Amino acid sequence: MSNRAFRLYDTMTRQVKELVPLEPGHLRFYSCGPTVYSYAHIGNFRTFLTADLIIRTAEALGWTVDYVSNITDVGHLTSDDQEDGEDRMEKGLKSKEGERFANVWDLADFYGERFKEDWVRLNLRRPLVWPKATQHMREQIVAAQKLIESGHAYETPTGVYYDVGSFAGYGKLSGNINRDDLMTGVREVVQDDNKRHPADFALWKKDDKHLMQWYSPWGWGFPGWHLECSVMAMAYLGETLDLHAGGEDLIFPHHECEIAQSEALTGKPFARHWIHTRFLQVDGQKMSKSLGNFFTARDLVDGKGADPLALRYALISQNYGVPHNFTMDLLRDATQKVERYRQCEEKARKFLEAPAAEVEGDDVFVASLQTLYDETLEAMCDNLNTSVALAKALEGTRVILRESALTEAMAKASLEFLDKLNALLGIIHHDEQVEGSNQASSVDPAWVEQKIAERSAAKQGKDFARADAIRDELAAAGIELRDSPEGTTWKERGPTL
Ligand SMILES: [Zn+2]
Repeated sequence: MSNRAFRLYDTMTRQVKELVPLEPGHLRFYSCGPTVYSYAHIGNFRTFLTADLIIRTAEALGWTVDYVSNITDVGHLTSDDQEDGEDRMEKGLKSKEGERFANVWDLADFYGERFKEDWVRLNLRRPLVWPKATQHMREQIVAAQKLIESGHAYETPTGVYYDVGSFAGYGKLSGNINRDDLMTGVREVVQDDNKRHPADFALWKKDDKHLMQWYSPWGWGFPGWHLECSVMAMAYLGETLDLHAGGEDLIFPHHECEIAQSEALTGKPFARHWIHTRFLQVDGQKMSKSLGNFFTARDLVDGKGADPLALRYALISQNYGVPHNFTMDLLRDATQKVERYRQCEEKARKFLEAPAAEVEGDDVFVASLQTLYDETLEAMCDNLNTSVALAKALEGTRVILRESALTEAMAKASLEFLDKLNALLGIIHHDEQVEGSNQASSVDPAWVEQKIAERSAAKQGKDFARADAIRDELAAAGIELRDSPEGTTWKERGPTL
């Protein structure tokens, strides 16, 4: 295990500090997942990618990581006000896209599975478990009961509410400590005259009309949104987490409420470190369907033929702690960069098969790749500084590509560098085989090689018209040729973004 410190901003203490797991080298990490009423958008994925990079960095340091990310498959209200608020799942079912589903369970199941597919396509590490709120109803009911018994919650004619005034630490994460201000910007706060304080939040809502309902000591109804994360995090990772993550919109009320519930239940700190990813904008504006700048991961991968790893590259290219502006230019640029890594790999493999006997400065080459990997990891350990990490990594591609020939030691060092980078950043290849990725080729390589041989023969025989015709034929099949002093290489044409 490395001695290197892994430093991350902590939302609770408002400073960058060392991430110190309770058990050295073993990170217990929970990240809030999506509500599966539709396809996840690229802003959601930016947040999940932050968690993914933390896992990869921790693993590069030799730690083991227990990672849990939930799936919210119970609908919750879209607005503060119960009268106007609409359940997200029910809204999804009533939408145009919802017509194909028999019921809300079917819809949740469908989008949950599509979400996992996107997750793997963007090369995120699979969590230990993807628990669903609907699979943990008993724990949520038991938790609400315990909170009533300990005086932290109370029942009204409309539900069970957490008494914010009963928990002295309420507001410590978000800084929202003035109880009268707590209503500002609060989602999920229900107007209910029976509540002791307007900021008290629901643990259980009584509702025998809701499309998803369960029977509880308080009759038919469904749990409040915040409760599921408290019980699922503790069920899989224990009463105190080393790290808890989410998007910046979750700081308040969601994470504040998770802390209030969990700490009232256990009397122990809920999480030792909190990390939040800032918003993603597209073309300098908040993503919205009406502006036409709203993208799901599959809009870009399936719809526009984007390489999913280039999309990943683009989404991590800005540090998680500042807002990120996503543009098509950024995605095109990322596509070229991902391609450079693959070119390096191709070159290293080729020279590993037929290495150059001698190259001047080969030891400098090997040492500089080691240094660059080290600096990349160092940048990741410095509060996940991805913009510096990606710049250092890219310097490595320059080192490899500028050499006209590689010795065996250089080729091996190059492949090792690329493998380690891929494990750390996940931008060159998928960790696992992915269906529907456009890395899968539909072209027979033997046919391409044969055409390239015919073209070289035509060029040698000065039949340039024939050589050009072969190039055009290959281009029509989506094959791009690259001529260099070492011969002709080929690749399938990238996406047309
Ligand atoms: Zn959560």
